[in-house]
Amino acid sequence: MSRALLGAGLVGVGVVVIAASATQARPVSRRMRRAFRWSELVASATARKLGLDNTPSPQARAALRLLVWNVLGPLRALVGQGLQITSGFRSPAVNEAVTGSASSQHMRGEAVDFIVHGVASIDIVSLILQSRLPFDQLIWYAPERGGHVHVSFTARRENRRELLYAPASGGAISVTVQGGAHTNNRKLVT
Ligand SMILES: [Zn+2]
Repeated sequence: MSRALLGAGLVGVGVVVIAASATQARPVSRRMRRAFRWSELVASATARKLGLDNTPSPQARAALRLLVWNVLGPLRALVGQGLQITSGFRSPAVNEAVTGSASSQHMRGEAVDFIVHGVASIDIVSLILQSRLPFDQLIWYAPERGGHVHVSFTARRENRRELLYAPASGGAISVTVQGGAHTNNRKLVT
């Protein structure tokens, strides 16, 4: 995929995407939604290293299925096998070991971090917005902070479609891709 094309997409599609209903996912085939193995979603190098249990509860497994069904499966169908999960489900012990947020959606099976080899995180976010995939929270990290994307999906309440950028300087900046604001927001990542 072309970086220029996707970059233009972020600017061009923002109004449409943010204004769209959160329930508007484009239809995808069954094959596209079966694109993940459990090991990709629950394997944890930290758990292995520290001997921590990282077995998801039935509730967390159900949440992971929904995340794959609604977001990750369709996304992998778009970007291919270059999509690699860098942090999926985290048991409370694993989450603590990686100093995750105390309320992290990773512990519910509602969130994963991932990269797409050869594609910048801003371009992945652009593609997700362009594709009208549903999400609860979407965060893209500066290269200095891993350059990955965090995406979550929940069935517990309405998905917020919250978009955040995590700059090299730390913290996170709320990004609104709407009207003329996207031009300013684009500057955040250049
Ligand atoms: Zn995350």
